[in-house]
Amino acid sequence: MKKIFLLTLIAPLTVFAQNNASDSSFIKNISDNILSSRASYNNLRTLTKTIGGRLAGSPQMVKAEQWGAQALRDAGADNVMLQECMVPHWVRGGKDKASVTYKNTNGETITMQLNVLALGNSNGSGPKGVQAPLIRVNSFDELEQKKDQLKGKIVFYNCPFEDTFIRTFEAYGKNVVYRVTGASRAAKYGAIAVLVRSMSNSTNNDPHTGAMRYNDSFPKIPAAAVGLRDVEKLDTLFDNGVQLTAQLFTYGKMLPDTIGHNVVGELKGTEFPNEIITVGGHLDSWDVNEGAHDDGTGVTQTIEVLRAFKALGFQPRHTIRFVLFANEENGTRGGKKYAELAKQNNEKPVFALESDAGGFTPRGFSFTLNDSSWNKIASWKKLFEPYGGCDFSRGGGGADIEALHETFGTPVAELIPDSQRYFDIHHAAGDVFEAVNARELKLGAINMAALLYLVDKYDL
Ligand SMILES: [Zn+2]
Repeated sequence: MKKIFLLTLIAPLTVFAQNNASDSSFIKNISDNILSSRASYNNLRTLTKTIGGRLAGSPQMVKAEQWGAQALRDAGADNVMLQECMVPHWVRGGKDKASVTYKNTNGETITMQLNVLALGNSNGSGPKGVQAPLIRVNSFDELEQKKDQLKGKIVFYNCPFEDTFIRTFEAYGKNVVYRVTGASRAAKYGAIAVLVRSMSNSTNNDPHTGAMRYNDSFPKIPAAAVGLRDVEKLDTLFDNGVQLTAQLFTYGKMLPDTIGHNVVGELKGTEFPNEIITVGGHLDSWDVNEGAHDDGTGVTQTIEVLRAFKALGFQPRHTIRFVLFANEENGTRGGKKYAELAKQNNEKPVFALESDAGGFTPRGFSFTLNDSSWNKIASWKKLFEPYGGCDFSRGGGGADIEALHETFGTPVAELIPDSQRYFDIHHAAGDVFEAVNARELKLGAINMAALLYLVDKYDL
């Protein structure tokens, strides 16, 4: 009796130890392969420098789709397909401009230029611009308190990032509602335009664009983000009781929806070809930068995982899909189409991973899944320690794989890189190729590949 008991206790432990050793050595092979390859960094250079900013509906996005399909073929995909979807087609339409005028203590009229960018999806003021007294509010509560004073005015939303959050995404998550819904909430009370403090904690004056959304019940007024140094100057003037008049010129226009594509490369599963593991990033970006960290790094990491798997002769048990999603920034239509097609085709999505939080040093992953899957994943943590991605948390996912989770209950995860520098450049001019470090980019891909390898081997 005693002997049998010992055997049953020891056998699984031995199997686990052996697996662990073979897993850690395979992950080391992945790491060696990716760190010795220039492929991901070269791909990022081509995407950012040759193609550049690529908003949904733009000619650059069409080029990016063609480039992405070829890059997936070059990386060794068994097949590459384009999934057509209708995407919004917003254009900036011109050079955004704003200024404020006021009287200084000597009674002289001063005009101060503001560094601004129209918010994505917003309607422009047109060449005549809008001009009106500027009124500052620090929150929606304050907006409501001042609702009787807003008619005919331009509202300046000035809610700063919460500096005490360690993860800057929390500050963004808390404040982004001002960018997304601020215009309509002010238009409801008769405001004729809004200026929004940039969603950033940067020390420069670059404005940060990003998607906004109109509520159809109210006039669709112009909306622009202001650089943080200019925000500070405005703040000082308001604090001193100075009366400001603002002028804003924007040219944004929403054209009819147009055709876009998710670009999908596939590695066929040997045992469960109909069970799909998805990994991806979004191919589109804002128009005002090169979309390097957002999300060129997620795209090139996705392609790099495929390249490394093929280079190492890895054959997954499940089919792995490498997806470059269309239109995350101002519509998430690509992610929605991907889930819709999976449903239509009776697919069985078993896991999805997204990289869309920048190409900085990986710290870990955040997961949305049930307790038993979570316990399984938590037992792999040690395998990630050498590569930095060992901080596992719950609650995360990704904008492009959210629809998959909602449709099928698919377990989802996102790569969590260090977030301290992300919002310096997010949706601003500084998000360029030079802001990405090649080794940080590769480390992200290594951790992603390791996670996919383990999910494929052990299931969730
Ligand atoms: Zn993004």
